[in-house]
Amino acid sequence: IWEEDMRLNSMEKTMPLKFYFIHVLAAGHMIPLCDIATLFASRGHHVTIITTPSNALTLRKSLPSHPFLRLHTVQFPSQEVALDLPDGIEVTDADQLGKVFHATTTLQTPIQNFVEENPPDCIVADFLFLWVDDLAKNLKIPRLAFNGFSLFTICVLQSSHYPNSLLPHPITLNASPPKELPEFFDKMLETELRSYGLIVNNFAELDGEEYIRYYEKTTGHKAWHLGPVSLISRTPEEKAERGMKSVVSIHECVSWLDSKAENSVVYICFGSLCHFPDKQLYEIACGIEASGHGFIWVVPEKKGKEKERQEEKEKWMPEGFEERNAEKGMVIRGWAPQLVILNHRAVGAFLSHCGWNSIVEAVSGGVPMITWPVHGEQFYNEKLISEVRGIGVEVGAAEWRGTGFGEREMLVCRDSIERGVRRIMDGGDEAQEVRRRAQGYGEKAREAVREGGSSHNNLTALIHDLTRLRDAKLISS
Ligand code: UDP
Repeated sequence: IWEEDMRLNSMEKTMPLKFYFIHVLAAGHMIPLCDIATLFASRGHHVTIITTPSNALTLRKSLPSHPFLRLHTVQFPSQEVALDLPDGIEVTDADQLGKVFHATTTLQTPIQNFVEENPPDCIVADFLFLWVDDLAKNLKIPRLAFNGFSLFTICVLQSSHYPNSLLPHPITLNASPPKELPEFFDKMLETELRSYGLIVNNFAELDGEEYIRYYEKTTGHKAWHLGPVSLISRTPEEKAERGMKSVVSIHECVSWLDSKAENSVVYICFGSLCHFPDKQLYEIACGIEASGHGFIWVVPEKKGKEKERQEEKEKWMPEGFEERNAEKGMVIRGWAPQLVILNHRAVGAFLSHCGWNSIVEAVSGGVPMITWPVHGEQFYNEKLISEVRGIGVEVGAAEWRGTGFGEREMLVCRDSIERGVRRIMDGGDEAQEVRRRAQGYGEKAREAVREGGSSHNNLTALIHDLTRLRDAKLISS
């Protein structure tokens, strides 16, 4: 599978660049950044991903084996320092968010030592590692920033700082962000603007030339669209074990989907961080059952003490729900092979929390979405999908939450869920139009990463720029 890419690199005839990639310990950040690392290695450049031991085990299964793609591990802190995180938990979920982020702060010294001992030509680091900015400056090497957002969302987030430049579309969100969030985003975006450029896991056609121009004009900064980067996963194994080990086998999942008609199944998944309260799970069960459509529903696995209380474990599930839906539905408790599912012809819609990776993976598969944003930057992503590009419909979520949930929070009721699912799955003019557009963007996504496509060309141009910088530095030293 590398032959084509290697041929392209030999055409470029350059001495390989050396890259270090530093990912955050969260699936939604680690997965795309490691895909981006793979992209650079596929062009013949020497890439090292800096990770922790248990993430390295997962990455070895999902990343293609390639002579230029290496992993370097730094020790994850002891249980004492990591506030009693269970052994082997080195990636965050809703329960462990604070502890994993605390543990992450201790990684700065070992990572910094490794980088300084043998500096690369370029560092690509997640936005949460603000200290990488100074490290790259001291080493006089370019740093590329990555935050896992679409450029559309970055433009909307930054728009209040540029009152004299109108956004290409008027955007009104369905919920107000928590008061500390704008400040957090501002800090992150400010650091990013000091980087050599921003890498975006999207393709230019979905963000749109109008947003790319807006970003470049207002900030004077460069964004490189290199995605959808998930399209680098080619074998079923690479597609199945992304981020974590899947709890169902690909065979089980695919043979179940094979038995279903085209576009007859709704895929329901809310990413790696969102754990709904029982009342909300109950509403989802009632809503999807009332819609009458087939489904695969990913419910996060309960952990620790909750798991021990077996009898209480699924008190949210309506009585007889699984028996009644044995033919129509599959409930996956834990990590699902999302990329495999979204690429199956039986999947006709994705009820999604609008995490950016999930969106771009659905778009790559030409799957229309039913949008249900929950936290982070997801309410912005929803607007790109529903109003701006018209490849999804909104379920009607109106409350911006933290990653934890309290029992008193606003629920999305079963009727809204049923209505949202039916709008896409029952057919009719609106559904046909949304599906047609989603499939069109799916074709454009796959086109973008082929030779001559927009993302493929951007990667070539970025590599040329970085090579020029490296060579100028070599000459001057
Ligand atoms: N994912 C998966 N199986 C699951 C849940 C999530 O493979 O059961 C993957 C999904 O394909 C995506 C990532 O995890 O690549 C989730 O990222 P996203 O930005 O959608 O959401 P987050 O988890 O960051 O909220």
